[in-house]
Amino acid sequence: MKRISFLILLFLMSCTPEQILTPPVKATQTETLTATVQTATEIPATAISSPTETPIPCDPFAAEFCITDGHFVLQRPILPPANDSVERTYPFASTAAGTREAHHGVEFINASGTSVHAAGDGQVIFAGMDDKAVFSPWKKFYGNVVVIQHGNDLYTLYAHLSKIDVETRQAVKTGEKIGEVGWTGAAIGSHLHFEARRGDGEDYFSTVNPELWLAPRADEGALSISILNAQRVFQNAELTIQTAGRFYYIKTYEEGFKSMEENAALGEARQGRYRITFYFGGSFYERWVDVAAGRLTQVIFVVK
Ligand SMILES: [Zn+2]
Repeated sequence: MKRISFLILLFLMSCTPEQILTPPVKATQTETLTATVQTATEIPATAISSPTETPIPCDPFAAEFCITDGHFVLQRPILPPANDSVERTYPFASTAAGTREAHHGVEFINASGTSVHAAGDGQVIFAGMDDKAVFSPWKKFYGNVVVIQHGNDLYTLYAHLSKIDVETRQAVKTGEKIGEVGWTGAAIGSHLHFEARRGDGEDYFSTVNPELWLAPRADEGALSISILNAQRVFQNAELTIQTAGRFYYIKTYEEGFKSMEENAALGEARQGRYRITFYFGGSFYERWVDVAAGRLTQVIFVVK
């Protein structure tokens, strides 16, 4: 019986060496071997193989950071060789250092006439001039605007267009050209203003950070950061995010974004090691985290 168990153990060792390698350092000693065999027979096969099949979920409140798949279901509305990078000086939920309205989307700075593409499959629920204040509290705010409804209560909005190529109620496919960049409405210079909304597509306050919904480009991931107090209420801070050769200064989101899941984010983050620091309540906070290509790094600070 013992011999059969030993053979089973050898077999298991050959299959999954890393998982059961701990005891056999002194495997030549009889006592050690006996103990090892007994342990091995007590562990059901499922328990031995489970760590690779169902990894323990990462708890972002307990871990330094968690890396997840995120929900990168959208494609970029601007395609290379045009500028497909989000403008850093006026990111989502920022006021550009107090100079602008809190931003409900992101900008892709491009010349008028640059093609704009559907970020996902869906149906156009509006295409035209926003003469009526439906999608924001102000009329003619977005100018020529297209709004697309996708699955899962997700909407995307494309504003300030110079030209619209689709009609209301039209079905569109990911990457389909829907219009061209312009500066209609309350635009400062030509650019695409791009939003993602969840739940109610007409609700200006249902916007979410598009940087956490757009599929990362090659070698890039995204960072989702929450700064919370013990009661799990979002707290404001000014963050410095550093990685090899780059600095990012990011303020936590302005108030008034109802659908907040995080209160700071950085998309288009090249994979690698990052250091996040900030001051809160007189204390200095620091965290080192990894960003992986195509994935979301979730970081939660509980501050005092
Ligand atoms: Zn904008």
